[in-house]
Amino acid sequence: MMRWALAFLIVAATRGETPVAYRLADQMTVQDRLGSFARDNRVRGERISLLFEKAGCTDLQRQKVRSLPNVICTLAGGGSDRIVVGAHYDKVKTGEGALDNWSGVALLPSLYQSLAGRRRRLTFVFVAFADEEKGLVGSRRYVKGRGKEGIARVKAMVNLDTLGLSPTKVWANRADRVLMALAANVAGTLDLPLSGMNVDGAGDSDSRPFYEKKIPVIDFHSVTQETLPLLHSDRDQMRALRIEEYMQTYRLLAGFLAYLDETLNAGHNAGK
Ligand SMILES: [Zn+2]
Repeated sequence: MMRWALAFLIVAATRGETPVAYRLADQMTVQDRLGSFARDNRVRGERISLLFEKAGCTDLQRQKVRSLPNVICTLAGGGSDRIVVGAHYDKVKTGEGALDNWSGVALLPSLYQSLAGRRRRLTFVFVAFADEEKGLVGSRRYVKGRGKEGIARVKAMVNLDTLGLSPTKVWANRADRVLMALAANVAGTLDLPLSGMNVDGAGDSDSRPFYEKKIPVIDFHSVTQETLPLLHSDRDQMRALRIEEYMQTYRLLAGFLAYLDETLNAGHNAGK
């Protein structure tokens, strides 16, 4: 049985005191999704598709990449402007790939649900990317497939990669300044930790193809000097994840996305 709490975020600094409403799943629901990972990339793609379906996503599509698809769940809003919320589901051969990146992709259905309760102004596109580990293949294909016009409608790309190893981190060097300020605002209001941690040296992530198209991006992660060695190793296992910190990241992201819907469509886009 899924239980939900209605949350309100009131950020006084913008637009008077408009309450930003969204729903939060309980820990058991979030943890169930986290625990449903598989070791095989094909099965992982099928699982995330099923999780979206169970979360009530009615516009669910698959975009062929190589042998595995991007899995795309769209929550239509009032306008054609959109926000892409992405996370890759594939893993490298070693380890469970529980941290990198089932931890990120398993949050997408919960984030979809937290916004789906009411009419949003922006369209939110949740994308589970294939083949990130083979060189951002899925995200590059996604960007290419949207064409020039489609990409112009993307007002922000929010990427989730490797969550729950430490309090929430943002890849500061890559992040759009406006998006980062908004995230900090939400973290402050909700009294949740958020700090900058650059991972330029640790490889790349699916925000890259969007960033190259000058779309404002923000990458959430939990990688630190101490936790970096876990990735792409046989220590990438679910038992290394810290559920309290993971839940904090979930709550921050749910509030952040609902807040973006209020702010990014008020005439000022991120990056401007
Ligand atoms: Zn990753």
